[in-house]
This record gives sequence, structure tokens and C-alpha cells, in this order.
Amino acid sequence: MKPSPIKPTIDFERDGVQHGFLRLPYSRDDSAWGAIMIPVTVVKNGHGPTALLTGANHGDEYEGPVALAKLAHTLRAEEVRGRVIIVPFLNYPAFRAASRTSPIDKGNLNRTFPGKPDGTVTEKIADYVERHLVPLADYVLDIHAGGKTLDFVPFAAVHILPDKGQQERCEAAMRAFGAPYSMKMLEIDSVGMLDTAVEEAGKVFVTTELGGGGSSSAASVAIAERGVRNFLVHADILKGEVAPQPSIMLDMPDDDCFVTSLHDGLLEMCVDLGREVAAGEVIARIYDTTRTGVVPVEYRAKRAGILASRHFPGLVQRGDTLAVVAVVVKD
Ligand code: ZN
Repeated sequence: MKPSPIKPTIDFERDGVQHGFLRLPYSRDDSAWGAIMIPVTVVKNGHGPTALLTGANHGDEYEGPVALAKLAHTLRAEEVRGRVIIVPFLNYPAFRAASRTSPIDKGNLNRTFPGKPDGTVTEKIADYVERHLVPLADYVLDIHAGGKTLDFVPFAAVHILPDKGQQERCEAAMRAFGAPYSMKMLEIDSVGMLDTAVEEAGKVFVTTELGGGGSSSAASVAIAERGVRNFLVHADILKGEVAPQPSIMLDMPDDDCFVTSLHDGLLEMCVDLGREVAAGEVIARIYDTTRTGVVPVEYRAKRAGILASRHFPGLVQRGDTLAVVAVVVKD
């Protein structure tokens, strides 16, 4: 494998607080020998575990960037045992463009792993994360939200893993994060995700979906901030106690959780996020936008549960995920 073209301007092994960049050479019309400068903060204090905290893996999701930008300028080395690597704006070109994917190559970073050192800009970022950042980490927290086209009840999530010991460690970290909901997540499309790369490397991995619609709120940022702090306490990097939070456990047992649109049109949501739905209940209607007088198409929940996610924009296209119904796990 070729070496990564990305070079950090900071030293991951040095104690103290360092603010710098992951420098990715990118020759282009307005800067012949230019580079993409991905901001990074490293806070290290002696020996101990390492946590890698990432936001804007998708460029239009904001709780991660806000909470991690705040952590980067406030975290002091003496508070830390071990190391915290903070990359608030991971797919930096996408983040600057406020879009899910990169405007340079249309790369969806979270479908690009393991990436390539000699590939597109997005592939180079994925390769650097996979071969240089993930190996440094014991704990990885990747903060997502719905972006411009989805909205979620706020949850932290883990996946079903073949190694049950690793899954238990991930679940413990998810519970420590303490989002209002905690999800055992079924991915619609898991190939190429950072999640899979970190899990296959045997690390403790937690992801989140903390809201959506292409912005953040005081409430969703507060969940992210508290969750990050709890995650670092759980990892034994920050001192203190994990502030216990009530969290509703959710499961996505199979594809019946997803309701996919077969129509283009105008969306009427009949149920809001977090509400319980019965199997067969109408959760959305889609209206023909080319004429009046047409009866709308009804979409029904295929199983009972709560509405965990919905399509956010007012217009829908065929193939869009309209809704996700998750099952509440009673313990
Ligand atoms: Zn995302």
C-alpha cells in the first residue's frame, strides 16, 4: 500500500494541547500547489487510552461539529489521562459546502472506507482515517445526525457484532453516552462505513443520530456535549462519574423497520418523531403534485414501534426512506 499523502501538522505523541491540521495536498485551479487543511486537535497527558472523536463525516450534520469545536477549545491537558483526538469536520470539503457529500468528487465519506491513498480526495481521507487515526484509538465516537434529508429521535447506536465481548463493550459505551434513545442499529447499506472499519479493527465504536434537517438545536447540541463528556469518562480518559441518563432502548430487527417511498410527491407526515405507532397504521400520505383531485397514496407502518426517523423535506422522491419504525425493547 502506498503511503498516505495526508500529513498532520501536529505530533500525536506529544503531551499538551495542540491545534493543527491534517494537510491533504490538492492541486487545483485557484491553488496550484494547494492543500485541504482539515482541522484537528490533540490533547494528550501521559499514558492511557485514546479516544478519537469525529463530526461532519457527512458535511450537513451539525451536532458533532458544534460539540467537538467547543470541546477542542476548552479541553485542557491536565483534565485528560491518555489522549483525545478531535476532528470536528472530518469530510472537510463537504462540511464547507454544507452538503452530505464532497463537492470535489461527490464522495460520501461514510461509504468510502477503506479508501485509497492514491484515489479521490474523499478516498484519501478515508484511507488516512483507517490506516493512521483508527489504529491510534481504543474508543471511537462518530457523531451523526440526519442532515438535510432525514430527521431522527436523538439516539446513540451500536451494531450487532460477531464478537459478543466487543459488542458488550460498545453497548456499555453507548449507555454511558446517555442519549434519550439507544439503538441496536440495522444498517441499510453498511459497506464502506467508518463504523465497519472501526468495528473490524476490534475497537469500541459508538455512532449517533442526534437530530437532523440540516441544522442543530440547543437541545440536540446539549445531548452531544453531555454524551461526549460521558463517553470520555467511561473510557477513563476524563475523571468523574458518568452522569446517568434515562434512555429508551430501541431495536431494528429487520427490513420491516424501513418504509420506502414508491412515489414522487408532496409529503404529509401523519405521525411525529418519537410517537408510538401500531402495525398497519397510516404514517404518511403522498399527494400528486401534477394535478388536484387525486386521492393521496397512504404509507403504513409494517410493524408496531415508535417513529425513530422520517424524511425531512416536504417533497418526496421514489426510493426515499420515508420513515423508520424502531421497536422499543422492554427490560
Ligand atoms: Zn451521517
